[in-house]
Amino acid sequence: SLSDRLTGALKDLRGKGRLTDADIDSTAREIRLALLEADVALPVVRAFVARVKERAKGHEVSAALNPAQQIVKIVNEELVGILGGETRRLNLAKTPPTVIMLAGLQGAGKTTLAGKLANFLKKQGHTPMLVACDLQRPGAVDQLKIVGERAGVLTYAPHPGTSVGGEGALGVSAADPVEVARGGIAEARSKQHDVVIVDTAGRLGIDEELMGQARAIRDAVDPDEVLFVLDAMIGQDAVTTAQAFADGVDFTGVVLTKLDGDARGGAALSVREITGKPILFASTGEKLDDFDVFHPDRMSSRILGMGDVLSLIEQAEHHMDQQKAEEAAAKITSGELTLEDFLDQMLMIRKMGPIGNLLGMLPGAGQMKDALAAVDDSQLDRIQAIIRGMTPAERNDPKIINASRRLRIAKGSGVTVTDVNQLVDRFFEARKMMSQMAGFGGGAPKRLSKR
Ligand code: GDP
Ligand code: MG
Repeated sequence: SLSDRLTGALKDLRGKGRLTDADIDSTAREIRLALLEADVALPVVRAFVARVKERAKGHEVSAALNPAQQIVKIVNEELVGILGGETRRLNLAKTPPTVIMLAGLQGAGKTTLAGKLANFLKKQGHTPMLVACDLQRPGAVDQLKIVGERAGVLTYAPHPGTSVGGEGALGVSAADPVEVARGGIAEARSKQHDVVIVDTAGRLGIDEELMGQARAIRDAVDPDEVLFVLDAMIGQDAVTTAQAFADGVDFTGVVLTKLDGDARGGAALSVREITGKPILFASTGEKLDDFDVFHPDRMSSRILGMGDVLSLIEQAEHHMDQQKAEEAAAKITSGELTLEDFLDQMLMIRKMGPIGNLLGMLPGAGQMKDALAAVDDSQLDRIQAIIRGMTPAERNDPKIINASRRLRIAKGSGVTVTDVNQLVDRFFEARKMMSQMAGFGGGAPKRLSKR
């Protein structure tokens, strides 16, 4: 994943004060590979990376993040922005019924989606109805009926007896999906269904007859939304398929399906970039509830394959007071770190949650990593109690903590003298190690700078 690949880059970039063009180029190369690996289409990758580089080159440096992290942050922001920023809601008709038409290749998940969408809308107080316009595939009508029953909604279908809750024969040719669509809308209007979901036929590949039929249905029902249903596993083919449906039926939004699979979701970025149409929903399984509105931020971490790194970056920015980090770094470098700083750093790191090895990526906090490697939460509580039990003079100059002071501190904080000894020893060791590491340029941010 990008996360793995960046580890190497991070090692080189850690501790640099600012982004050089070379940093940006090498990190951009890794990002490019990650996007291609996630099946984002090549022209989309090219345009995207160019935009990221442009932004990175004019970017202000942050003390909380190293250069690679800063670029990842930009990439993430750009991805989230392109994928839609705020989630776009369904466009509902001012005068019901709202008509939602589903289009896409066979097997994309249209029929399954019809049930999920009906279930979703029903929970919001709508009274959806399904219309079976896939008369191509044997069994397609029955499949929609079953899906509708599961969601507890009515299904309008062409054959007498298959119209669940309908009033018998519909008087239209079973072979004409356009007539079924028209009949369905009329039925919904007369029965006061406020949303109609029109399921349509798909083909295994793009073909003109299929597109013509979809267009004819669209023209007959004048939908408020035409949702292009796209299997996320389709990979690089997403671009041609999306383009064909954009030209063929001019959809208004996209639904990604099969995100429960191992697809990295590059299709999302490609389809968004190529068609400019928003992604509204995501399907994540065969069950009715395996469905949610589309979350651009989740998709971004999926495409980048680095959810942990992204949340670390977010947390680092939230919690790391830049001024404090710089002060601590300066003290570490000069070997003047006090127990007070030591405690501050520990508490700051704790606020970030279980971040384990990634700690090494944070300037300043990086030096705490080894010192804290063996410390768990209960020990941290004890360390905190001991340091709180010291006088300010002791915290600032731990060398004065002699035997009688140790006894007093132990009693006052409810621990043994051995515990106090261990802490003081560990502190001196850590301080020595840190100032040595800082001397090698091991990661303390030197100073904020702008390019
Ligand atoms: P359609 O031809 O576009 O109507 O596609 P279907 O709704 O019939 O779905 C094709 C197959 O994909 C069925 O076996 C569905 O159960 C399955 N399917 C649909 N959506 C998802 C999804 O989000 N995740 C998974 N794992 N399977 C799905
Ligand atoms: Mg179907």
